Amino acid sequence: MPTWDIVLAADVKWLNEHAEQDSDQSWKCKATRVGILQRGIRYRVAGKKAREELTERNVNHFYCPACKVPLAPKVGSVISVKEIGFFCSK
Ligand SMILES: [Zn+2]
Repeated sequence: MPTWDIVLAADVKWLNEHAEQDSDQSWKCKATRVGILQRGIRYRVAGKKAREELTERNVNHFYCPACKVPLAPKVGSVISVKEIGFFCSK
């Protein structure tokens, strides 16, 4: 059964540029072959309407421990619901 993680759409774009999937389905840095890590970041998500309340969401953030990119976002940052994407982890 595939599982879907909540991620930032921009992170998925970064992942596809920076890394590639190995034969074991894990993501590896194209330059260094180091495994890409994921970390759950608690964000406050703004809905489509300006007056909607912020909801807290755990969003998975990808980063490369070798290249140290992208920079870790701040816990509690406010993001728009439009920035959210989904990622199939397995
Ligand atoms: Zn890298």
